[in-house]
Amino acid sequence: MNDFPTSELLVNDDPADARLAHAALRRSEARFRAMSDASPLGVFVSDAQGRCDYSNVAYQKISGRCFEQTLGTTWSMAIHPEDRQRVLAAWHAAARAQEPFHSEVRFLREDGSVVWTRLNAAPLGDGGTAQAHVWTVEDISVRKSLEFVLCAAEEALFEEKERAQVTLNSIGDAVLTTDLLGNVSYLNLVAEAMTGWSREDALGRPLSEVFAIIDGTTRQAAANPAQRAIEEDRSVGLIADCLLVRRDGVESAIEDSAAPIHNRYGQVTGAVIVFHDVSQSRAMTLKMAHLAQHDVLTGLPNRLLMTERLSLAIGLAQRHGKQVALLFLDMDRFKHINDSLGHVVGDELLQSVAGRLVACVRATDTVCRHGGDEFVILLADIDKPQDAAHVAEKLHVASAVPHLVGGHELHVTLSIGISVYPDDGSDANTVMGNADTAMYHAKAGGRNTYRFFTADMNARAARRLLVEGSLRRALKQDEFVLHYQPQIDLVSGAMTGAEALIRWWDPDLGLVYPGDFISIAEECGLIVPIGRWVLREACRQVQAWRDAGLQAVPVAVNIAAVEFRQRDFVEGIATILQETGLASRYLELELTESVLMHNAESSGSVLEALEAMGVSLAVDDFGTGYSSLSYLKRFPIGTLKIDKSFVRDIATDANDATIVSAVIGMGRNLKQRVIAEGVETREQLAFLQTQRCGEGQGFELSYPLSADDFTRLLAGGDDLQPWCRPAGWDQGPVSPCAC
Ligand code: C2E
Ligand code: MG
Ligand code: MG
Repeated sequence: MNDFPTSELLVNDDPADARLAHAALRRSEARFRAMSDASPLGVFVSDAQGRCDYSNVAYQKISGRCFEQTLGTTWSMAIHPEDRQRVLAAWHAAARAQEPFHSEVRFLREDGSVVWTRLNAAPLGDGGTAQAHVWTVEDISVRKSLEFVLCAAEEALFEEKERAQVTLNSIGDAVLTTDLLGNVSYLNLVAEAMTGWSREDALGRPLSEVFAIIDGTTRQAAANPAQRAIEEDRSVGLIADCLLVRRDGVESAIEDSAAPIHNRYGQVTGAVIVFHDVSQSRAMTLKMAHLAQHDVLTGLPNRLLMTERLSLAIGLAQRHGKQVALLFLDMDRFKHINDSLGHVVGDELLQSVAGRLVACVRATDTVCRHGGDEFVILLADIDKPQDAAHVAEKLHVASAVPHLVGGHELHVTLSIGISVYPDDGSDANTVMGNADTAMYHAKAGGRNTYRFFTADMNARAARRLLVEGSLRRALKQDEFVLHYQPQIDLVSGAMTGAEALIRWWDPDLGLVYPGDFISIAEECGLIVPIGRWVLREACRQVQAWRDAGLQAVPVAVNIAAVEFRQRDFVEGIATILQETGLASRYLELELTESVLMHNAESSGSVLEALEAMGVSLAVDDFGTGYSSLSYLKRFPIGTLKIDKSFVRDIATDANDATIVSAVIGMGRNLKQRVIAEGVETREQLAFLQTQRCGEGQGFELSYPLSADDFTRLLAGGDDLQPWCRPAGWDQGPVSPCAC
């Protein structure tokens, strides 16, 4: 081991002194070595050549080299090669400037591990060569690794902050934060744009100044959501219809929420408000809501909204002891206009009618399109039902003015049903249903009129429903039968024909006459299959009589308007004749005047086709329908049946007698058969005979007979020849039938 330099301790030449000095020197040296080795600082002494001539234990430990390994090495040898250049450059620079040298460098230890150190160099200053230096080396690995951790944490924090910043500025939502006092502490870019406040201007200002919100409905300042979030320490939503007033006064609908911000101890330190512009979606929602509650064609409230308003009006009326009226309107014959002039005209007409209706009522009333050609008007506050009647009259007057649509002058009339709360129902559905029922009665009562709902209408409506259901079953279960009423030549007494009249054997109700179900069958469309059945059955029966060798007469079948309007009506008749094998001259169709006139154009061609087929035509209930007689000449009509209402009073009412005589005369001139219906008395019969009426039909001559009775009649049964007067005539005519 090399000794510590001792030359400076040799003070004289005396051997005893020299020994003493030597011993003192060795002690001092040992003490110094002990002190040096006790130090945690590494010490490395380099000579003028920069080579090590001393290192202490700490240095050896730091450098990972033993004393011997350090001796003779240069001070920079233990430095990590990657740091060496830098350190040498710094060392030379310090030496040139004669400044103390220190540097933080890595030592590469013998075992390859790395240790961070702080290196200091100072000239030894021992009076010897000025190039000798003492190096102290401090192990700073712990501090360094702490520094690294801190640095990494700082970097992570920075990254996190950066990420948050970028995120906050790139999301579509506006974000604004406040401190505990409610002063603005942050705004992202969207918040800047939406509030109109730059971050610079906004920071530190009270929230209410930067984030000015009002209630869209009341237009009052809305409560500050941040304050609530802070006070209640929970997320809170903004009010429903919230408007943000930008710095320049422009308003936008916003939506969203505020939440408290906490520090690491869970204490509330402020609040964050996140909001976004919902102007577009709110406008869309409003539009959707409008669409859901309004009719697209007319823009009027639809049934949904009407029901809502009606319920509301009933609720209010109940509280204030008021009345509410509901008018149910149906345009008469709209279908006809729509079918003949097309949907475009139909649509425009509906719009025109809607406009008129709205003009007739107060702004507080509601006009709704209920669907198709039906409208409903709600008079939310009336004093007496008569007020509703006045409105109905006003509507009739307004609708009397023709509508100019697509170059057409269209006349529209309205059938109106009225029901009133509380008299006619205590809830919206009942009031609405009863107004509908009343409308139906207005229509049945001659159109262009109005009817108040009455309790017995409901009974009828219920009955209608019942009958409709039963009719469907009747068709399936074959519950219909035909009776045949003879038509008699009033001169010879011979039977010239028979009218087929339908009856319904209902298992519950017994025998039902057509007056009780035909109109219902017409309304629900069941008349078409029923009519088919009647035609087929009548044709089949007459052919059966003929096949049986009986003296069969032509059969007259009543045809309803709906049947006549069927596109395949003529083909249907042809098919039935073909299927039953009946010659067409045995079939006559009875049509009323209104059926003929309703579709005068198309009627003509249908009637001609029937005539060409050999089927004859009769006008039923003549005199009760249209007054126009021109069709009698235009259409191929073979028979006129004078309605029984005229026949009833011919013996007593001069007017009726005159009408009947005129019809008889007209028929004779036009070479048409004339049959008087409803001949009930001998007086009537006598009158008709004196007027030279061709034929008659009525109870005085014969009741309608069941098929069996009629068969016996055809077979010449003695008991069944009332019009020939002999047997049984005095007891009255043939009885209705055994049923
Ligand atoms: P309508 O075609 O005018 O038939 C004559 C009606 O007068 C029959 O009533 C008949 O029973 C009745 N009648 C006959 N003689 C007299 C009389 O002397 N006095 C009185 N007061 N009435 C008499 P019904 O059978 O009740 O039929 C009523 C109406 O029902 C018919 O009137 C016809 O319009 C319709 N109808 C009957 N059967 C059918 C049918 O198969 N199809 C269609 N669509 N309608 C039918
Ligand atoms: Mg008839
Ligand atoms: Mg008739």
